[in-house]
Amino acid sequence: MKLAFTQLVDIKQLEALFEDLYKATKYPVSLIDLDGTVLFSFGWQEICIRYHRQAEKSFARCFVSEKLIKDNFINDDYIQEFKCGNGLREIALPIMVAGYHSATVFIGQFLYDDEEINYNYFEKQAAELGIDKKVYLELLKQVPRYNRQNIHNHLKFQKRWIDYISSQAYTKYKLLYEIDERKLAEDTLRENEAILNQKLNVLLNPNENITQIALKELLKLEDLQKMQDSFAQSVNVASIITDLDGKPITNGSNFSKVCKMIRATDKGNANCLKSDKILGEKANQSRKAEYHKCHSCGFLDASAPIIVGGKHIANWLIGQNNVLNVGEVTIEKYAKEIGVNPVEMLEAYKEMPQMPLEQFSHAVNLLWIMANALSNLAYNNILLAREVENRKIAQNQLKQLNQELEERIISRTYQLEEALEELKIENEERARTENELYEAKEELSKALSNEKELGEMKTRFISMVSHEYRTPLTIIQSSAYLIEQYALKNDLNSIKRQINKIETSITHMTRLLDDVLMLGKQESGKFIISLNEIDMISYLNEIINEVLTMDAMKHKIKLISNKPQIQFVTDTIILHQIVINLLTNALKYSEIDSIINTYIDEQEDRITITISDNGIGISEEDLHNIFEPFQRGDNVGAVSGSGLGLAIVKRCVDMLEGYISVKSEINKGTSFSISLPKLVNCKIENE
Ligand code: ADP
Repeated sequence: MKLAFTQLVDIKQLEALFEDLYKATKYPVSLIDLDGTVLFSFGWQEICIRYHRQAEKSFARCFVSEKLIKDNFINDDYIQEFKCGNGLREIALPIMVAGYHSATVFIGQFLYDDEEINYNYFEKQAAELGIDKKVYLELLKQVPRYNRQNIHNHLKFQKRWIDYISSQAYTKYKLLYEIDERKLAEDTLRENEAILNQKLNVLLNPNENITQIALKELLKLEDLQKMQDSFAQSVNVASIITDLDGKPITNGSNFSKVCKMIRATDKGNANCLKSDKILGEKANQSRKAEYHKCHSCGFLDASAPIIVGGKHIANWLIGQNNVLNVGEVTIEKYAKEIGVNPVEMLEAYKEMPQMPLEQFSHAVNLLWIMANALSNLAYNNILLAREVENRKIAQNQLKQLNQELEERIISRTYQLEEALEELKIENEERARTENELYEAKEELSKALSNEKELGEMKTRFISMVSHEYRTPLTIIQSSAYLIEQYALKNDLNSIKRQINKIETSITHMTRLLDDVLMLGKQESGKFIISLNEIDMISYLNEIINEVLTMDAMKHKIKLISNKPQIQFVTDTIILHQIVINLLTNALKYSEIDSIINTYIDEQEDRITITISDNGIGISEEDLHNIFEPFQRGDNVGAVSGSGLGLAIVKRCVDMLEGYISVKSEINKGTSFSISLPKLVNCKIENE
């Protein structure tokens, strides 16, 4: 590919660069392409502009010198220095691109400062060009004179500079070349693709386009030729396969010299083609091999149609054996008719192979069989191609089906997942609702049972108050009446006894009220704990004495400790409530004179106080709710009580973060144990 220099570089840019170069060096420079077009120039001499390039003669000399340079370039290192046609100096530097000379940089015109000017020559030139000699010589003087060494140095620079331009141009050349090549390759590819598509189309749709099928598209031409050659040789006939117009598809096998001579002429060849065409049509009509005398000299030819998919697409011919003995006269006459040397043709005719008709007809039978085999082969190829295509289509359909199925499975899975997720959410909601319902039911039944309990408690409270208050009130009432009576008698001792009774009853009633208030406080959580450190054994002894005094020493209480001294931090009011209630109960529900044991056991982090009696005991049934307020055992009999003592004890133990347990057997005795942690980390308020 050869490209113009202007296609490979940006001339405007180059011009600007050369202008700068000229301004810096003052060496006149110009760039001229291979057609002699001046692409740009700087510093041209007045003498050239005004005269040499104006007058026809001198301009022609300018051009001649440029052409000379162009033609003389050998390689890119070639720098030519010469005197131009008009006597001035010029240096030419070639710009080579892709091995081609593409443009020329000219330095000039100038003259060396060490050379002597041949004024004679220039005066003559002025005269020749019809220019005023004086003016001309004046302009000659303006032509710059340069030092040889400086020019030499400048050329070195110019050479490098031009190399750079060349390489830039070459890069662009390569790019354009590649684009061009690619375009060419694409065109060829497109062309080939179109041909291939056409062939494939024909192969795949034979019934529609069969007439357009060339045999060579169905069978390899090489194979056809081989088959035809070996058939012709073995049967010793000439043979050829033609299209429906008689044009050869294969090269003729075993062709006789005579026929070759005939076919070498236009007229003879046309006759042969026509003859073969007509015979082919005849054979196709009868759908078998047919004979006829050829249209040239009447040689006996035979043709068998090649029919593919029911369509006649070619003819297989044999002949050129002088079966019918046409005779020299015919040959001579025909030679003249088609413009062949008759003598030479007669010579050739004599060499023509002879064959008896019977043998030829055997050959024709064989031809028919062979043509059929060929037809079948071609048809099989079509079927095969179709089969391949069908399989390909089926495969594609299968692939598409699979893809569709996969897509459907994916979308179905997605739907199922969504449904599952919805179901999950629904289930969760249902579970939540059920849970809420259950909780509501629980709350309701709790509220109901609380309500019931409260109701029961109220009843128990009322019955307790009415019973526990009536007795002391009755005592107070009767004591008041007796005091009145004893006062009349002035019986002071009896009055004092009755006053004691009143006081005991009031104490009893006060205690009952205290208990109710205490429980109320505990229930409302208003009880504030206040801690003190106590000597546990002394403290318990004090309470025991208090209880025994109240009991009027009807029982005995023993205190047994695992340690001689136990220091303990506790709320003394609460602890007092616990111990006094448990001891009072132990006394209350035991026989007079029986012994109550109080054990105190100190462990590392807690103490346990156990109060055991041998009293009436508590039934298993009553043990279940013994700590509930107003609950009393069925076996209490006439022993008075409010049923508040143990309820208060339980809450007191809870407040001290301990626990209480009870063991009891009816008529054998009861044992209450309270275990209290050592509240070492608690703030002792009194301190
Ligand atoms: P009460 O005022 O009836 O004694 P408590 O709350 O103190 O009320 O006790 C509740 C019930 O526990 C008593 O009525 C009694 O049946 C039973 N009980 C308590 N302590 C003993 C004990 N030491 N021996 C036998 N029964 C007891």
